[in-house]
Order: sequence, then structure tokens, then C-alpha cells
Amino acid sequence: MTALSFAIEEHPAPLAANARAEKLVSPGFGRVFTDHMVSIRYTEGEGWHDAKVTARVPLMLDPATAVLHYAQEIFEGLKAYRTPEGGAALFRPEMNARRFADSATRLAMAPLPEELFLESCRRLVSIDRDWIPESEGGSLYLRPFMIASEAFLGVKPSSEYLYLCIASSVGAYFKGGPTSVTLWISDEFTRSAPGGTGAAKCGGNYAASLQAQAEAIREGCDQVVFLDAVERRWIEELGGMNTFFVFDDGTLQTPPLGGTILPGVTRDSLLTLAADQGMTVREEPYAIDQWEADARSGRLREAFACGTAAVVTPIGRVRGRDRDFTIGNGGPGLLTEQLRTQLTDIQRCTAPDPHGWVERVF
Ligand SMILES: *Cc1c(COP(=O)(O)O)cnc(C)c1O
Repeated sequence: MTALSFAIEEHPAPLAANARAEKLVSPGFGRVFTDHMVSIRYTEGEGWHDAKVTARVPLMLDPATAVLHYAQEIFEGLKAYRTPEGGAALFRPEMNARRFADSATRLAMAPLPEELFLESCRRLVSIDRDWIPESEGGSLYLRPFMIASEAFLGVKPSSEYLYLCIASSVGAYFKGGPTSVTLWISDEFTRSAPGGTGAAKCGGNYAASLQAQAEAIREGCDQVVFLDAVERRWIEELGGMNTFFVFDDGTLQTPPLGGTILPGVTRDSLLTLAADQGMTVREEPYAIDQWEADARSGRLREAFACGTAAVVTPIGRVRGRDRDFTIGNGGPGLLTEQLRTQLTDIQRCTAPDPHGWVERVF
């Protein structure tokens, strides 16, 4: 099954080097795409087949394609970094492969064998290696995803799936170092409920978060922080980032996964790095009232959000319908900065990798 071979159909007319260089000067996030993509098909009875690396082209879909109606879709996000020797490295891609299979199971989709997921990432990074930005903070963001591709309007798991992996050259998330963000506490909307899809990386979760995110922007904030759906009391996470809290006794806390929080690779890596250096780390619920009280008393020193795209984002201020408090002095905290540097140094292969997290592609 995992011995499926990939057909390679190189792009007949890849973008010229000078035009590519121009795009890589200031690529931003998710706007600049590479020449190629990977696709693999699944059909009930036949299994996974037709794996290929081809030019990145628009899709032709029947208007009755299931994903367009019932949102049976999942995705992943991981980065390839340039190594100091000019090679490329992926960071813990096997975690993304496993999570992708778990998301598929939750959405009643056919799980892609993890080795196929990994091989698709390696193939794409290799063929589009010239698209990995050389600039400081730049990387190649990989977006593996899968859609229900059967043309049928009945409500049932699709009998066909299309897996694709595309890549986007991205710049440093924060130009000139991270600045802290202001979060908006949504008291009307929730992201995830017990028994729901909060722990799966599916497009539907994001669609459902957009109205809350729009409200945050309208209120002059940067991002939403969601509370639990049952008590509307416990801090869960942002629309696409996990949350961490740093206390004056040097301990670190993050909400426990428990099925309603997305198990972030960055979250897991930071927990490990903090424990490595002797910090006490807790995966325990944290209440919004406690957050405000601790921020006001100074017991809470720092807070940050984390995920692959921005790595670590300091939280400077928190606002809601009847709340407004500042974390520390409102700027990036010391430990936040330290953890971010430690993690990015491992990802970019400029620091030792004691846990074997980095996979060199070439
Ligand atoms: C992807 C994602 C994260 C971060 O996960 P990483 O593996 O660290 O990138 C956190 N929360 C949500 C809801 C996500 O979709």
C-alpha cells in the first residue's frame, strides 16, 4: 500500500527564475504558490491510487461534488525550512501525517496512509526547492488537504476522495520581530463542543469561526479567543492557534486537549522544550475570570498563542463585552521570546535537535 509509486510530470513551463525571485522578495502569507502539486486519488474498492506530481493547475469538479455541499474536507499545515547548508528540512511531519489520518477518521473519510502523506510532502519540497525563500524568517508552507470528490447529493460518506498537496512561499510572519496581539473574547460564539469536530483540522471549523473573527476585527482586536461551549468559562484556543500562560513562579500552563482543542504540533513541541529546561508545565483548564485576576495581580506574567504559521504570538491585551486587561507590560514577554527562538533554531537546523524532530529532505 505505501509502496505506491509517484508519477512525475514536470511543469512544462515553470516560472522563470527572475520572476520567481521577484515574488519571493516579500511573499506575505498564502499568496505565492509554487509550480507543482501532488495529487492522489481514492476510490472505494480500489483504495489509494494514481499518485502524481504535476504542474499546479485548476481543478475540474462536477457541481454535484460532495465537498461543495456537505463540507467533507480536512487539511494540514507544515513548513519546510532552509538549512544553513542549503538543504531543506521538515519539522515533525509524522505528527501532521498522523493528525491528518485522525481528522479523516472524524470526518468519515478514507485515511491516507501516513507514509504516502510524508512522501507527498518530500516530493513537493524536492521538486519546488527553488521556491523556499532564502530570506530570514522565510519558509515553504505546505498545505496537504483532502476533499470528498464523489458527485452525489445524498448525505453519506463519499466513496471517492481527492488528496492534494500544494505549497506556498511565505515570508517572516512578523517583520522586525513579533509584536503582541489583542484578543477578543467571544461571548456569543463557540468554536468547538464536546463530541464535535474541534480536535479535527477541518475547513468547517474555520468557516464557523469567521463571524466571531469578523466581530473581533470590528471591535479593534486582532484575533478571537474562544471559551468552552458548555460553561462558557474555560479558555480553549484561538481560531487557529493554541494558548499558553506563563506565571510569576516560572511555571507554564496550557489548556488540556480533551477533544475540544486542536492538538497542535507547536503546542506539543513547546511543552517538551519547556520541560527540557526544568520548567514545570501543566495541561490544566484555566478560567477566564482567573486569567483576568492573575493578569491584574501580576501572578500571570506572559501569555502567547502558537501554531505553525506564526510559531509564537505574544498576547498583550484581552478585551470582551465587559473586560479589558493587559498582560505584563503589554509587550512580548521574555520567556515567550526565549521559547520562540529555541523552537525556530531547531526548525532551521541552527541548534541541536535532541528529540530528532527535524527531517532533512535533501
Ligand atoms: C492548526 C491549528 C493549530 C496549530 O497547530 P500546529 O500543529 O501547531 O500548527 C491550533 N488550533 C487550531 C484550531 C488549528 O487548526
